Amino acid sequence: MKIARLSVWHLALPLAAPYSLSGGRLKVEALDSTLVRVETDCGLEGWGEACPWGSNYLPAHGPGVRAALETLAPSVLGQDPRAPEAVGRAMDLVLPGHPYAQSAVDIACWDILGKVAGLPLWQLLGGEAEQRIALNSSIPTGDPEQMIARIELAMAAGYGVHSAKIGGEDPARDRARIAAIEAWLPTGQSVTYDVNRAWTPGVALQVLNSVEARGWVEQPCETLEECALVAAKVPQPILLDECLTSLDEHHRAWRHSQVAGLKVKPNRLGGLTKARQARDFSVAVGWQMHVEDVGGTVLADTAAIHLAAATPESHRLASWLAHAHLADDPFPGQGARNLGGWTAPPDLPGIGVVPDAASLGAPVAVHEGGRA
Ligand code: MG
Repeated sequence: MKIARLSVWHLALPLAAPYSLSGGRLKVEALDSTLVRVETDCGLEGWGEACPWGSNYLPAHGPGVRAALETLAPSVLGQDPRAPEAVGRAMDLVLPGHPYAQSAVDIACWDILGKVAGLPLWQLLGGEAEQRIALNSSIPTGDPEQMIARIELAMAAGYGVHSAKIGGEDPARDRARIAAIEAWLPTGQSVTYDVNRAWTPGVALQVLNSVEARGWVEQPCETLEECALVAAKVPQPILLDECLTSLDEHHRAWRHSQVAGLKVKPNRLGGLTKARQARDFSVAVGWQMHVEDVGGTVLADTAAIHLAAATPESHRLASWLAHAHLADDPFPGQGARNLGGWTAPPDLPGIGVVPDAASLGAPVAVHEGGRA
């Protein structure tokens, strides 16, 4: 079986409401997504998505995905999609790095592998039984009252776990946010405070050593070393997100053993192949993890939820669905959905989300041919 055609669509995805994080440093109003359809010489097809969260959340941006795919496509055509790791090595040979672009191709190959096997991806990725996955909401930065009001809305949608975005130049504002949320938080609800790299280590130590909160704090500072310094000197468990851009970074983080958890995001790492490696390593060293993606439609969400469902419950924290933030849903009714604060991957072969190509309009690029 060989890859015979690679088609690329650009999707502009406005958010239902502007989203601020990192104390308002980073603000996003729309996502720039790229869908990839991989077609084989035997008629099977698979779908993948690459959708950075704006252009400044990670070193990744939407037009960069499509530019990278122009360079990657000749190395992908002619490959056997049932061997995603080999396809990944071929991509690394022509364009090292750029994991956010490679991820769409990798995920589409996994979709085909699942269809060939007649199995859902959660099973191919190591899941022993279909799992119910807890979901977490994502609460943008705001005043304490605004953030509490948004948590209340999320609770009404069934969420019991919340990721509250804090951070900024004024430590007093973050103390006030945390104090207000902790004082108000109903029993049975939990909040992770996601700083999105906004603090220097000094500010992190001041804030975290002066609040009562004892739940997770995520990516307090820019670098792994800064986060590790903080983790050694605060009472809260620290988990990492943005700074883990490769498996090697996970190894480095493990050597800084104060870190206790992480986010595993296929689009940040290069797809399901590399996210699975990160997941397996993280389980082996005892970390707990959120498995979800960076952004996008229910297609990207569902691919990540399959990996979450194949992750031991003892090591799994809640997952987030990016598509819940979109103004419009291009694939209504498909894939992993919020079912009262929980979700489950489809029990269909592959990812289980099948976009209607005709509804997407004309692709922005079609690559055909490849090695004989
Ligand atoms: Mg985060």
